[in-house]
Amino acid sequence: MHKHFDVIVIGVGAMGAATCFHLAKRGVKVLGLEQFDIVHARGSSHGYSRMIRKAYFEHPNYVPLLHRAYALWEALEEESGRKLLHKVGGIFMGPRERTLVGGALAAAELHGLPHELLAAEELRKRWPQFVVPDDWHGFYEPDSGFLLPERAIGTYADMAMRRGSEIHGQEAACEWRADRGPAGVHYVVTTDAGTYAAGRLVFCGGPWSGKLLADLQEFGGITLKVTRQVMAWAWPKVPQDFELGRIPVWGIDSMDGGLYYGFPMHGEMPGVKFAHHLPTGAAVDPDAVSREVTAAERAGVKGILGRFLPGADGELLAIKTCLYTNSPDGHFIIDAHPAHTGVLVACGFSGHGFKFASVIGEMLADACVTGRMNGEAAFLGLARFAPGRAPG
Ligand SMILES: Cc1cc2nc3c(=O)[nH]c(=O)nc-3n(C[C@H](O)[C@H](O)[C@H](O)COP(=O)(O)OP(=O)(O)OC[C@H]3O[C@@H](n4cnc5c(N)ncnc54)[C@H](O)[C@@H]3O)c2cc1C
Repeated sequence: MHKHFDVIVIGVGAMGAATCFHLAKRGVKVLGLEQFDIVHARGSSHGYSRMIRKAYFEHPNYVPLLHRAYALWEALEEESGRKLLHKVGGIFMGPRERTLVGGALAAAELHGLPHELLAAEELRKRWPQFVVPDDWHGFYEPDSGFLLPERAIGTYADMAMRRGSEIHGQEAACEWRADRGPAGVHYVVTTDAGTYAAGRLVFCGGPWSGKLLADLQEFGGITLKVTRQVMAWAWPKVPQDFELGRIPVWGIDSMDGGLYYGFPMHGEMPGVKFAHHLPTGAAVDPDAVSREVTAAERAGVKGILGRFLPGADGELLAIKTCLYTNSPDGHFIIDAHPAHTGVLVACGFSGHGFKFASVIGEMLADACVTGRMNGEAAFLGLARFAPGRAPG
């Protein structure tokens, strides 16, 4: 006889830890399975900072989810007594008509979000740390800021277990199946240490989602492409200009479909963190990806500071690799499994999902309890990949 739970969550990273917490809060008997440690550096959620912002240039439909995400992060801070969110403002720079600035402006206007549009001269006066062309603009959002990802995941897991969840680290889910019996369907998960059963399954496997859910390919040909990213830290030449409180989080149009971005210094790691968000790299296998940083990557990432933030362009301190799981259209996939209504899938976060973990955890927990997904996530459903449907 297998140990039985109401819900099994596979993958206890950002989305899985939040889901375990919200399920535990609802009194649901939950098992979370994590193949590595609870809080590790092999998936998508390490690196000591993740940006959060409301004026979502990627798609304005994310904005209502973001309002809830902020409220839930703040509630978690209050409940846990831990600092998880730094609301330090955000400045996003580039040509006015392109997506980074233009899309943020459109989302802010549509949803009535506080913001300012600054001409280059004004922007440089307020933050002389940035060197940007004269014809660029800056979109400033006071509500932007950053989250502490390792601490947030640890807090969610800790609080879930305090409320009675069972969470197993170092235990990989190897297989799952649906068993139909006289009492209905239940799901059986076999790990490298045991076998468990549950009324519902939630898949939050991050970069491993394509392996766990290989059958999603059969439904609309959905391929999840995992790409390797690097993030770097440097000690600024003028450290006081880059301290928390002296500079907001920032994004710069890299004019290649991506953006350069970075954070103020905040003590979890020494120095200024910066990176290039560009999800178009080669596909990698998350189990075989190289964590070695190449000389070309080192030179590429270092060039960002030299060009746009010369005062930060001091000694390089660290470069780490991380993984994106890209959906075909760059938007998240949150839905019931097409062939199993009791199975929920949350994947394809395409390099911008962390800020939503709080609200996604809540939506997945509610969907487990009610059997219905929150309508505000409908635009993230699998139906958009059906043949003949327009993307986005
Ligand atoms: C460099 C970088 C910068 C980013 N910057 C931002 C940002 O500024 N703002 C933002 O909002 N987002 C950002 N993102 C994206 C964001 O971090 C991710 O979208 C988010 O962390 C994804 O969470 P996840 O739970 O899907 O994946 P993860 O946190 O990786 O969790 C998946 C978990 O599932 C586990 N797992 C997989 N298969 C199994 C199995 N078979 N059995 C047991 N466990 C399993 C994995 O080990 C892993 O722990 C960034 C990502 C990267 C890589």
